[in-house]
Amino acid sequence: MIGIGIGFIVGLLLWTLLEYVLHRFAGHDRRLGKHVRKEHLMHHAQPDHFSTLAKKLVLAVPVVGALALVLVPIFGAAGAACVAGVVVGWTFYERLHRATHVRGPKSRYGRWARRHHLHHHFEDSNTNHGVTSPLWDWAFGTLAAPGEVRVPRRHVRCFAWLLGDDARIKAEYEGAYRLV
Ligand SMILES: [Zn+2]
Ligand SMILES: [Zn+2]
Repeated sequence: MIGIGIGFIVGLLLWTLLEYVLHRFAGHDRRLGKHVRKEHLMHHAQPDHFSTLAKKLVLAVPVVGALALVLVPIFGAAGAACVAGVVVGWTFYERLHRATHVRGPKSRYGRWARRHHLHHHFEDSNTNHGVTSPLWDWAFGTLAAPGEVRVPRRHVRCFAWLLGDDARIKAEYEGAYRLV
């Protein structure tokens, strides 16, 4: 049982690394998969563009399948638990990423995740490739502590949670975000 628990936790950690590598090298770099890059740059150009579930699965099924093919024969149940950890991490990432765009934060972690990710969108897309954790940005030297994130007015309708009824940044987000 201990092996299964550890396998699952290793899977969650492995997801945070995959998230970083896929975003940095497939999403922003020419070195891995041009289709992922094309989709991801569309998301940057139009932040309310999200890949369809079908397109996400075209990427996720081979990646998870390859992991299962390697890990399950070597580690058995612990390997399967590791693959399950990757799937749970990936699902959590998808939900969190969308939430950072479409919903206001409800927790300290939520506030951190939004500022961290919107810094990547609007300040410097060479930093903050991780969405769920800062771990690998820290490890690879791409972690940036967001200052006031400058959100372009042309995109603010994608982040309606930032605005009050007067169409200005809500008082609770002043200092963290600014419209430009
Ligand atoms: Zn995004
Ligand atoms: Zn990006």
